[in-house]
Amino acid sequence: MKIKQIDSVEMFIVRLPLVSPFETSFSVQTHREALLLKIVSDDVCGWGECVTSPDPYYCYETNATASHIIQDFLIAILTAMNNFTIEEVLQNFEQIRGHHMAKAAVENALLDIMAQKYKIPLFELMGGTPQKIMSGISIGIQESIDDLLESIQKAHDKRYHRIKIKIKKGKDIEILKKVRRAFPSINLMADANSDYTLEDIPILKKFDEFNLMMIEQPLNYDDIYFHALLQKQIQTPICLDESIKNLNDAKTATELGSCKIINIKQGRVGGMTASKKIQAYCMENNIKAWSGGMLETGIGRAFNLHLQTLPGFVLPGDTSETSRYFAEDIVDKPVILQPDGSIEIPKGAGIGVHVLPERIDRLKVFYEKLV
Ligand SMILES: [Mg+2]
Repeated sequence: MKIKQIDSVEMFIVRLPLVSPFETSFSVQTHREALLLKIVSDDVCGWGECVTSPDPYYCYETNATASHIIQDFLIAILTAMNNFTIEEVLQNFEQIRGHHMAKAAVENALLDIMAQKYKIPLFELMGGTPQKIMSGISIGIQESIDDLLESIQKAHDKRYHRIKIKIKKGKDIEILKKVRRAFPSINLMADANSDYTLEDIPILKKFDEFNLMMIEQPLNYDDIYFHALLQKQIQTPICLDESIKNLNDAKTATELGSCKIINIKQGRVGGMTASKKIQAYCMENNIKAWSGGMLETGIGRAFNLHLQTLPGFVLPGDTSETSRYFAEDIVDKPVILQPDGSIEIPKGAGIGVHVLPERIDRLKVFYEKLV
């Protein structure tokens, strides 16, 4: 099926307070400022969420760069097209280098529209299998070890399938030791968000004794080669996050032996279609994949859930229940954990969640009608 034409495009930024501040090795977040796109085409309304932040600390894209690229380039390309497929849109987007999160947000909305036109859930359009999705929680750096242990206990009680703790240099070995002593058998992993260098190999080797599922992105955010050198020296599987921006990066990392696991964030790699290609490559090449989170609202969270119905997503991702981050979301229904810790895919055509206009109206800090 083709999209005849684009009728309207609206851009919003909503500011949602986080239930508790989220600290990583590079920043502390107290709010999620989410850039949202509402596209209407052939009388069907689709939503997309851009996973950028106001600041460039995770990657170079920000809400401001994404707004600029979406408004001045992506939407200009889109509105010049008639009777088109999403594949054709993505091909035309290729002339713009980088800016994957901006591209993914537009693709999100088009996929939501297309699935609704077919009257099927998004996962079906993507070729996924209906299934319960594994949950995972990412716990930011805490004030004290007691706070951390308490957070892990709560997550464990909720039956999260794996627990990730954020670490940084100096807040690592002692913390991991205490966590493992308290929780000897939980599925545990650590995310360093690029806080180490090869000079820290003696520290990173000590991680091997903690039986971690993986250490995520220990070295520089754009490095692939040095991670290969590190992986040769440590037992703990390396998972790459920031370094993998496209399928080519996944191939390079695999060929070099830089990682055994890849965190596929659909925004970071340029969207759902790009993610599908990477998970297929990972499956063929014995690399385990999972879906990372960017503190998304219910819109982005729904896309992540549909994505994880693809067979390459063999490990629990960062998808938590909504109340873990937000007292109030902008969609209905919020994500809740089942008694076994799993998550159900939203039902209905498209992304399957109902976007609440009155909440968006109340929480918005920016609005512009682009078309
Ligand atoms: Mg990460």
